[in-house]
Amino acid sequence: MTEQLKPMPEDWRRALAVVAHPDDLEYGCAAAVAGWTDGGRDVTYLLATRGEAGIDTLEPERCGPLREQEQRASAAAVGVSRVEFLDHRDGVIEYGVPLRRDIAAAIRRHRPELVITLNHRDTWGGVAWNTPDHRAVGRATLDAAADAGNRWIFPELTEQGLEPWGGVRWVAVAGSSTPTHAVDATAGLERSVQSLLAHRTYIEVLTDEDPETYCRSFLTGNAEAAAERFGGRPAVTFELFAR
Ligand SMILES: [Zn+2]
Repeated sequence: MTEQLKPMPEDWRRALAVVAHPDDLEYGCAAAVAGWTDGGRDVTYLLATRGEAGIDTLEPERCGPLREQEQRASAAAVGVSRVEFLDHRDGVIEYGVPLRRDIAAAIRRHRPELVITLNHRDTWGGVAWNTPDHRAVGRATLDAAADAGNRWIFPELTEQGLEPWGGVRWVAVAGSSTPTHAVDATAGLERSVQSLLAHRTYIEVLTDEDPETYCRSFLTGNAEAAAERFGGRPAVTFELFAR
């Protein structure tokens, strides 16, 4: 029998999900988020960019505000009302101290026990090359979970009134090709389809398929593929780093 994934920890109240672009969380783990917010947990989204370089036929000045709006609708579909943007530039996010500082500041502001991010590795399962933005934001998020708790790494944040927060207990990486944990996707699956579908402008450019058929088959396919490692239940998988 295939090795089974463990259930994600449930003894937490607040999560902060940090990704590079509008749609990263919707492709990655929105069904899990829907289940969490159903259970009264507080989830905040933090995006490094507005995805303004994502659509070839739309100039960044017009694309950014549109995708921001779609991201907010998309978050609302799974019960998330707080969506923040860091204003790094789409496509050229740099891994480094400024990015770590921005994410650490958000962690100090929101004080999550669980931090979520997207695949930070070079490839998607050794098959497709990952984007530099995903690598940078994923790695910086894993690092910032520790930075946030250290008084001396970003003293300027303390001067701004952001006290250290050492309460992050886990960082969960969505879209990992080496997952360790999973969440039952059954209850949230339909809302995750609506959530991805909210990125309509982007999806319509991406595929010739009917957008709803495309979103449903992508997310259902992923959730069902994970089922064999989660007792037959459709699931969203994570690679969990405990702290
Ligand atoms: Zn992305």
